Amino acid sequence: MPESGWDPVEIEVSPTKAYVTEDGRKFQDSELTITPKMAAELHAGYRCARCLEPLQKLGAFPERCPVCAFEVAKYQRQQLEEQYRGVDTSIIPAGFPLEREREHLERELYRPKGLVTMSVPKQKRRP
Ligand SMILES: [Zn+2]
Repeated sequence: MPESGWDPVEIEVSPTKAYVTEDGRKFQDSELTITPKMAAELHAGYRCARCLEPLQKLGAFPERCPVCAFEVAKYQRQQLEEQYRGVDTSIIPAGFPLEREREHLERELYRPKGLVTMSVPKQKRRP
């Protein structure tokens, strides 16, 4: 694997499915096969559902993805509800603890929003 942080992803173009954009352009649909860890990160809001960028540094469900500008906080759950096809148990190793992995990520990566600490330089403090 390259060191760019990419996790293994398999993309399969569906020969039977296609979609048409509002301006009439036709695209073939595709399905992504991702690792259980990536799926858990998507559902916990730590990975962009549009471009799969890891979002751990920004906390769960940041307002926008810094790479593709997808509105994660607003649309991630909706996107997953519409497009997530679930777990293909034929490719997950038997006994893989998906729920435990998700809970682990929640615990490890959760950062409460609105808690900001900052230090004010002494010379700028008011008397
Ligand atoms: Zn993105």
